[in-house]
Amino acid sequence: MTSEQNRQAAGPSERSAVVDLAAVQHNVGRLLDLARGRTLIAVVKADAYGHGAPQVARAALAAGAHMLGTAHVAEALALRAQGITAPVLAWLHTAATDFNAAVSQDVRLGLSGGELDLVLDAAREAGRPAVVHLKFDSGLGRNGATPAQWPRLLERVRRAESEGLLTVEGVFTHLAVADEPTRPETAEQLAAFQDAVRAAREAGLNPTLVHAANTPGLLSAADLPDPDAMLLDAVRVGLGLYGLSPFADRTPQEFGLVPAMTLRTRVANVKDVPAGAGVSYGLTYRTEGPTRLVLVPLGYADGVPRVATGAPVRIGDRIFPVVGRIAMDQCVVDLSLGRPVGAGAGDGRALESAPPTAGRDGAGPEADDGV
Ligand SMILES: *Cc1c(COP(=O)(O)O)cnc(C)c1O
Repeated sequence: MTSEQNRQAAGPSERSAVVDLAAVQHNVGRLLDLARGRTLIAVVKADAYGHGAPQVARAALAAGAHMLGTAHVAEALALRAQGITAPVLAWLHTAATDFNAAVSQDVRLGLSGGELDLVLDAAREAGRPAVVHLKFDSGLGRNGATPAQWPRLLERVRRAESEGLLTVEGVFTHLAVADEPTRPETAEQLAAFQDAVRAAREAGLNPTLVHAANTPGLLSAADLPDPDAMLLDAVRVGLGLYGLSPFADRTPQEFGLVPAMTLRTRVANVKDVPAGAGVSYGLTYRTEGPTRLVLVPLGYADGVPRVATGAPVRIGDRIFPVVGRIAMDQCVVDLSLGRPVGAGAGDGRALESAPPTAGRDGAGPEADDGV
């Protein structure tokens, strides 16, 4: 039996991830407002951050997103196989990337340089130009041509364009610290990128989509001295689609975003404990006073990050923090730490737990009073 089958045997409805596509659509509307007329590239890589790529892609496009973004060509082709015909850009290529399929199925390609010959071969094979977005490494140190490699790339690309093998639709870069708006590196990256774009135009290229901003870039643009230098022609937004804030000190609600995913389960156990009772591995948490502990049967094997101690768990109409370490398949909340829904800033919809059903082991009717 595979682990997937095991989980289903345990009852899929007892522990489920519920995705609210109306929230995704609401968020797209909000992000379009913030982007003030720029092209919105909805990033649906990694199965739309776990929310379901085809469903999220359709919802985002219906709400006004102009284009989709994926890491791998294979992810873009999977969208095509689902009948999604909108423009898609894929930017992370590996030895296994199928450039022929990408060109023939109209997938736009991020182009850093090393893959250029393979892309040109694919364009010849398909008998049509590959549509590319040149990627400039302005400081993240991952993909993209470095400033030293950039002039040579521009030269080769210009030649290929004149031979009808490439169409340069875009030029882009990716930011390293946009989620920490007080750091100076973002402005440095944008300045370096501006130089790179100027060089591309001087080399005879005519990109219509110049883009740099990810979610934190878009959300912080209004606070910058020159928002246009961040927003440019297009923004590539992932996290914001799903209603999450990239900033440690700012909630989604502050930006008008609504979290799209809820993890839902039923309480597995409830117990009364005295003051000083330890909770979970390492005993990193001890109860302040006599209280009641609730066992939630979700852990890091279910996708709850192991670092999510303190994360909000909604039980009934109150919110409780996870206390102690998150284990592989379970975590614990302390019922003495509850507050009403809406009383705190951090009420995401990350986790939701139904009160225990009366009569279950360890969760008698008495427990219902407390939760
Ligand atoms: C993942 C990714 C994004 C989206 O980032 P968010 O912070 O989730 O908006 C944008 N651009 C590139 C190149 C990415 O890899």
